[in-house]
Amino acid sequence: MKTSKRLFILLAVMALLLSVAAVTFADEPPHEHKFDLWVERVNPDNPCINAPYDVYKCSVGSCAETTKVYGQVRGHLAPVKLDTSTDPTCLDVGITKKACPDCGFPFPDEIVPALGHKFDGAPVVVESTCKDQGTKTYTCTREGCSATKVVAIPLKDHQWGNWTPAQADCTKGINQTGTCSECSATTTRNLPPRKHTWGNWVTTLEPTCTAYGSATGTCSVCGATTTKRLSKVPHTAPDPVRWLWDENDRSQDYMLCAKCNRIMKRRPHPGYEGASTAPSTSQGLGQQGQATQPIIQSPVSTGVQAFNFGPYARDLNPTLFGTFPDRFTPVDVSEDGVQTFPLITNNGYYIGMVNVTTSYGSVMVSYTMNDPSTMVSKEVLFLYPVLSAVTPEMLVNEGATRQFNQPIDLGGAQYIVLNVRLDVSFNVANPVNSLYSDLGVYVDGVQSNYDLLMEMADTLNAN
Ligand SMILES: [Zn+2]
Ligand SMILES: [Zn+2]
Ligand SMILES: [Zn+2]
Ligand SMILES: [Zn+2]
Ligand SMILES: [Zn+2]
Ligand SMILES: [Zn+2]
Repeated sequence: MKTSKRLFILLAVMALLLSVAAVTFADEPPHEHKFDLWVERVNPDNPCINAPYDVYKCSVGSCAETTKVYGQVRGHLAPVKLDTSTDPTCLDVGITKKACPDCGFPFPDEIVPALGHKFDGAPVVVESTCKDQGTKTYTCTREGCSATKVVAIPLKDHQWGNWTPAQADCTKGINQTGTCSECSATTTRNLPPRKHTWGNWVTTLEPTCTAYGSATGTCSVCGATTTKRLSKVPHTAPDPVRWLWDENDRSQDYMLCAKCNRIMKRRPHPGYEGASTAPSTSQGLGQQGQATQPIIQSPVSTGVQAFNFGPYARDLNPTLFGTFPDRFTPVDVSEDGVQTFPLITNNGYYIGMVNVTTSYGSVMVSYTMNDPSTMVSKEVLFLYPVLSAVTPEMLVNEGATRQFNQPIDLGGAQYIVLNVRLDVSFNVANPVNSLYSDLGVYVDGVQSNYDLLMEMADTLNAN
């Protein structure tokens, strides 16, 4: 449009120059042309690029001068797509060619992007195995294209089985080899040890009412053996049932175990109303059909405590142990063997022995009474590493008592302090329960109690 306007202005200027020349050379006297007579409109051959014009004639006299007044160039018509265009394919671009439908003037080509493959159909599937990878094959669904796309399918897991050896050992883990049931691949895994299968228990020590027993078991798989502790058995009631009592304290009746002579049951003495009004021997006794008789004919000593022979705790350290009746005995446990110490009551009787058995790094404490009918209603056993480690709190902590007749690990100790405290009832009339004095002769009939106690005190203070 700009080009055609410029052309129009150029032509108009030329026409003006011609008209000025006409003023000079025309037949008519010189005049200024008046081009106001329209003659014709002339259309160009190619209106796409050429402007149409109107021809005007001068109206003065017989002046024959004419002039052209140009219109605007129309320009090309809207372009149309040509048959020489190409369509895009999966991989190649398309080219759209366009031209003016009037004059055929070519417009710039337009590039159409390639379409890309279209893999939207169902694939051909080859399944994976544990050994070979499978595939999914897609084919391009665009017409005329046979391109394919292959997608791998992950391998399947092996189907492990047939593990060998089939069973683990009782005590150590094993490596097992497994084989895949689909292919012949193998793998290994660690199998932790299985537990022993204990059975075939044989009692090696029968339990009693005072001591644990033991039994040996054998593993049915590997033949290993083990031992276990057997629980104590209940005390045995005497047959016929007998209730005994203490002539000096008629508040309670006692039943003694027929096997171990320890108190197994207590009951309030029938008809008892107080120590000062104790009923006579036979009145009201034997109720409920039970035979009742005195425990021991007087004199009997009850409410008494018995201790291991040794220096009094209160003499060793009056500040800490001034209120305690206990005695401490130093015991050398560096060598295996049995050591015995008299059991002394707090009312001055020697009634039995404490036995300390050292064996294979452990110690076992038991006691034997001179009179088998002596009753023990409470047992306390403490073992201390050294005298200086003992506190009054330890002496009253009866719940922490060690067990008699049970091995106690020494933990490497070469020396211990023994503290036994038994609540006993015993017959003072029985000559086997003899009077005892710290200044007298030791139970072996040879040594001096005093000398032995001095030696023990020195040992206790030195450790
Ligand atoms: Zn004229
Ligand atoms: Zn054209
Ligand atoms: Zn394709
Ligand atoms: Zn496999
Ligand atoms: Zn086993
Ligand atoms: Zn018993």
